[in-house]
Amino acid sequence: MNQLLDTPIEFLKGVGPQRAALLQTELGIFTFNDLLQHYPFRYLDRSTYHKIKDLPYVDNYVQIKGVIQSIKEIGTGRGKKMFARFSDETGSIDLVWFQGFQWIKPNLKLNTEYQVFGRAKIYGSSWNIPHPELTLLSEITNKSGLQAFYNSTEKLNAKGLHSKGIEKLVGTLLPQLQGKLSENLPDWMIQEQHLFSREKALFAIHLPDSEQIASKARFRLKFEELFFLQLEMLLRKESTGKKLKGYVFNEVGNQFTEFYEKHLPFPLTNAQKRVIKEIRKDFLTGKHMNRLLQGDVGSGKTLVALLTMLIGIGNGFQAAIMAPTEILANQHFIAIKDFLSKMNINVGLLTGSTKKKERAIIHEQLLNGEMDILVGTHALLEDVVQFKNLGIVVIDEQHRFGVAQRAKMWRKNVNPPHVLIMTATPIPRTLAMTFYGDLDVSVIDELPPGRKPISTIHKFESYRVRLFGFMKEQIALGRQIYVVYPLIKESESLDFNNLMDGYEAISRSFPKPQYQVSIVHGQMRPEDKDFEMQRFIKGETHIMVATTVIEVGVNVPNASVMVIESAERFGLSQLHQLRGRVGRGAEKSYCILMTGDKISKESMKRMETMVHSNDGFEISEVDLQLRGPGDLMGTQQSGVLDLKISNLARDGQIVTLAREAAKKLLEEDPNLTLPANQSLKEAIRTILKKKPNWGRIA
Ligand code: ADP
Ligand code: MG
Repeated sequence: MNQLLDTPIEFLKGVGPQRAALLQTELGIFTFNDLLQHYPFRYLDRSTYHKIKDLPYVDNYVQIKGVIQSIKEIGTGRGKKMFARFSDETGSIDLVWFQGFQWIKPNLKLNTEYQVFGRAKIYGSSWNIPHPELTLLSEITNKSGLQAFYNSTEKLNAKGLHSKGIEKLVGTLLPQLQGKLSENLPDWMIQEQHLFSREKALFAIHLPDSEQIASKARFRLKFEELFFLQLEMLLRKESTGKKLKGYVFNEVGNQFTEFYEKHLPFPLTNAQKRVIKEIRKDFLTGKHMNRLLQGDVGSGKTLVALLTMLIGIGNGFQAAIMAPTEILANQHFIAIKDFLSKMNINVGLLTGSTKKKERAIIHEQLLNGEMDILVGTHALLEDVVQFKNLGIVVIDEQHRFGVAQRAKMWRKNVNPPHVLIMTATPIPRTLAMTFYGDLDVSVIDELPPGRKPISTIHKFESYRVRLFGFMKEQIALGRQIYVVYPLIKESESLDFNNLMDGYEAISRSFPKPQYQVSIVHGQMRPEDKDFEMQRFIKGETHIMVATTVIEVGVNVPNASVMVIESAERFGLSQLHQLRGRVGRGAEKSYCILMTGDKISKESMKRMETMVHSNDGFEISEVDLQLRGPGDLMGTQQSGVLDLKISNLARDGQIVTLAREAAKKLLEEDPNLTLPANQSLKEAIRTILKKKPNWGRIA
């Protein structure tokens, strides 16, 4: 039966080599199975016909049944039209063509029953239907129910493969598959979820008798698709856990204990404690840890990372923490040095701008084991960076690193070092279950005490004068302010001018020596960037004008105002990240979103979401709805998914059901040995064979 489904589409009656080539390039349809999975995107109820005498008023889609009585052409040259007089038992109407009728005319049959579909219009005093869809009644495949509409393209249209043409191909295919579409889910699951059988669903999705049946068919196919995805994730997780040995960290060690008892600057939040416990457990299992730590901006992930690394050190290993930008790596380095200032732990920093001499020293200390913690950027990935005994790697702001890059860190010791991935962009549950189904997930769902919520407002250009006034008030209170501009690659020079104009306007309104203004952007030399950043961190400047280089991680607790210019050009998660730069101290903080007067509906939705929510998880849910999962996770991962019918943004509930079903299955039959699960085992085997082993490192 697999063989039949794998038949090249060329061999379906009515296709042939030319159309096959087009179906491949235009719609990715190579085989019978691909056509079977080219699901309709909507249906039209074709079970009822209008009577011509009762046609509804003007410009409505109508469907009538009858015969053509006569055909005539009227006019000359470009004004030429063709009229066909069409009648049912109640009256007559004109079908009209303004072009293309030289091809249509020869095919029209008089006194033969047609179904006519189109928009009825009143022209002068008589009814007509321009450019109707005509189908011989004898050729209609699904007389009782809904007619399916299929996606097509212009090139396919030109070869007769418009929606109707595709419908016809499907109509040719389905009878050949009757009785041959075997079930791939076990009976108990079908009962439990009240699913159509696979064959019934595949037939009904193309030829449903009613909207209700179409919807049940959709549910079955979505469930099946998501179930196999979840099962795949769980199986990969299983096999990763089994295959990969990890270093055992038996104790928390002296360094952890000393730090925890003597130098911890504040008590941990309960969420931080819980996460440390979860990590501790992983370290005892002898398996490789692959854990994702989600926590909103400002939730205190750095401290968790440090405590995790101290455990590694206490067990005789080295640790590394990798950040996506130099500024952020610097900041981690400073924060960690600061936390550890009273302890004898050697911390190094390695970035693209580390001098050659220093680099040589670091390389040596890594190799001879003198270096305990290495902080850095991508520079850590280079092959020349060799450790004596690397035991734990922390990766901050995970999704900025590619999958292949992360894999490199795995090879820096005999067994792969444990990995803790930290992200401040909370991932909606449905996505996390799907993309990170093979990772263990920890969540910090609590901010350190004493944080005041950030007031967010959305303003237009007319607010500018008052904005500057407000900024002055805040500076008078001793606060510092960020002003952020978008700098997006495609329009770089334009954006750059905006940034510079903005900087000048601010410098004029906030003159020296009373006010000090810093600027940081991507085109500056790293040392200049750093110098300006440090001035702001030390409180020497009042305003930091910047591009999104400050997006992640920067920590200046005295900064209490975040102004985001052209806020409509930022995505939701980016806005939330930027806002997370303030509200870190004890002072009341503000985020002001400045936008153009005319912004799209979607941009407005983003602004509204920011104004009413401070919750990263809620924001990421909205982000998912607005942008779809592909954008959210990066194209690389979305391509792997290749979902035919489900939509992760909309089908969250089915994802959960599928996840539960997959879990239950594996709990009862972890190796899929029960006879009842054999069809399923075969199906998942085929799926796994086709896909690259990306789950291991994703
Ligand atoms: P993020 O999770 O965004 O990386 P950070 O680790 O930068 O957050 O922490 C934000 C701020 O909160 C830092 O100044 C940090 O020192 C402080 N912090 C972390 N944990 C606690 C805690 N338990 N109590 C009080 N402040 C904390
Ligand atoms: Mg951070």
